Amino acid sequence: MSRETNRVGAPDQTGHVFVIAAPSGTGKTTICQRILARDSRLRLSISHTTRPPRAGEEDGVHYQFVSVKEFRELREAKRFLEHAEYGGFVYGTSWMAIEEPLEMGQDVVLEIEVQGATQVRERRPSACLIFLLPPSLAVLEARLRGRATDSEDAIQRRMTLVDRELAAAKIFDYAVLNDDLEAAVEQVLEVIEAVRAGQGEAIAPKHGRAGVLARWNESQAP
Ligand code: ADP
Ligand code: 5GP
Repeated sequence: MSRETNRVGAPDQTGHVFVIAAPSGTGKTTICQRILARDSRLRLSISHTTRPPRAGEEDGVHYQFVSVKEFRELREAKRFLEHAEYGGFVYGTSWMAIEEPLEMGQDVVLEIEVQGATQVRERRPSACLIFLLPPSLAVLEARLRGRATDSEDAIQRRMTLVDRELAAAKIFDYAVLNDDLEAAVEQVLEVIEAVRAGQGEAIAPKHGRAGVLARWNESQAP
């Protein structure tokens, strides 16, 4: 049995895996930073990427920055729980990034895009998938511009992916609207607490993905 197959079939460890995904610019990083600051049981999974560091990004802190060759070698050695191409670069969560914290009894947060979330769903079905929604596509684009980290080309490329990303939301367990930041942080923490307590069903009417997406779609009608 290969290492990966073994891991895929292995029973879950004690900690929980929380996946937070959203169209780029929605506020994943902002919300993840805040929930991590609020909840000491959470640890962020540091991803590998072939994307070059942005100003202020540190190797081993924001990402493990690797070359295309290094990424390929790690992938061939089956070191990744999930990996995906996004905006011309490759990103992946190593098994090590989740196993170390889980073995220490912590819960792990994966801040990743939707193709990777789909792979996590398949390979670790007990993971809790939380999708973040922007108030509207216009606000999303304004946030991407306001962040001032991407070229106009990159912003346009990211906006072309939004429909596919919203379509992928259907595999998620919960959804949270990131309009007012503090309210969104509270709601994500509420989901995390409920899942830990085995009370996921109780919050389904408020945070369940189907209802939140339906309300969001209604709010987008012209
Ligand atoms: P992502 O990680 O999803 O790409 P970021 O966390 O980088 O998104 O957020 C994109 C931009 O939007 C940042 O400039 C951030 O400060 C801003 N932002 C995030 N959440 C909110 C919010 N609720 N209201 C207004 N601006 C926000
Ligand atoms: P950025 O280049 O803005 O840091 O990230 C681009 C996209 O890749 C974001 O949606 C981010 O969440 C996602 N991403 C970051 N790390 C990973 C990862 O390990 N796996 C996957 N699938 N996506 C990731």
